[in-house]
Amino acid sequence: GRNLLRTTRVRPFASLWRNASTLTFLETSQGKGLTPSSLSVLSAAKQLKNPIVAILLGPDAKESSSTLLEKFECLGLEKVIVVGDKRLEHYLPELVSPLLKDLLSKGDYSHFVMASNYVGKSILPRVAALLDNQPVCDVVAIKDPKTFVRPIYAGNALSVVKCSQDKTLISIRASAFEPVTAGSSKTAKIEELNYERTEEVDIRWEGCKMVDSDMPDLTSAKIVVAGGRALKDKETFDSLLVPLAKKLHGAIGATRAAVDNGFCNNSLQVGQTGKIVAPDLYIAAGISGAVQHLAGMKDSKIVVAINNDPDAPIFKNADLGIEGDVFEILPELTKKLP
Ligand code: FAD
Repeated sequence: GRNLLRTTRVRPFASLWRNASTLTFLETSQGKGLTPSSLSVLSAAKQLKNPIVAILLGPDAKESSSTLLEKFECLGLEKVIVVGDKRLEHYLPELVSPLLKDLLSKGDYSHFVMASNYVGKSILPRVAALLDNQPVCDVVAIKDPKTFVRPIYAGNALSVVKCSQDKTLISIRASAFEPVTAGSSKTAKIEELNYERTEEVDIRWEGCKMVDSDMPDLTSAKIVVAGGRALKDKETFDSLLVPLAKKLHGAIGATRAAVDNGFCNNSLQVGQTGKIVAPDLYIAAGISGAVQHLAGMKDSKIVVAINNDPDAPIFKNADLGIEGDVFEILPELTKKLP
């Protein structure tokens, strides 16, 4: 009882009397500037209607901060905090979390927003624990600055949660927030901070092996061509899906059955235990439409299903259904496209 009273601080209207502002955590991808999910983070932050401060870490931070200010002044960014230290390059949570904790406990921030990707999933809970705060993770909609919508039961239901803490820490699903687009250019402040920490942590970045691919990234692609068990094996999965995806400039996705049967790498799995996607067009080829798969793609704008079983559940979740054999339909579709 005592413990609970101590840790539950209820200050429902804190942001009305405080000088509210939102700290956003933006990521860069080696030399390629801001990641697409960072643009969605900014779009979510805009809905909170506070002045926005952005933080960028690592060796790319300085350059990305200038781009950010040039392109996105329309957001009314108050300032960009740059911590250019090389040690922060890979967003090691052991290094980043204490830094964010310091910033959030000193500043007048009412909100903190980051993406619910692998970086956010490893950092946000740590920052929250250090601040004795409860974060709201996986937000898909913002009702007001204290009220958020997030999926529960693997996306089968949506819950609305109200946050009554004086600092609101959220992670957002990038696919649920349209990335911000560039606006007029006017310069705001850039504040360079030194990373003071000198003590060693027990975790060290050893390396990263990127999967070589000339296809767009699955989570940010506008078009996804996904295949299921019906594609039979790796050879047919590749020969049927890759040419179609290439013509559409889309990414390849897969069901767990396709991954488990070795048709493709598990980084392509869409669903409850895979990636969450919401492209403009999702083509589901030879996919039954299990709830665990739907959990990862049902927010796609247009779903086209190709299946030879008229009773396949995927048809109930599709805007367009093609009843037929994937081995005939996919090559025909690819041939007909310009
Ligand atoms: P199937 O269900 O076997 O469907 C194949 C479909 O292809 C059928 O509808 C069939 O009619 C059709 N078909 C067959 N031949 C042809 C043809 N020649 N032409 C056209 N159509 C044809 N699954 C995921 O996808 N992602 C997840 O993240 C995920 N997480 C899971 C987590 C848990 C805890 C559990 C228990 C399961 C999870 N699953 C997940 C598995 C999920 O339940 C399904 O088993 C899986 O999605 C089925 O994959 P599928 O549609 O490729 O295969």
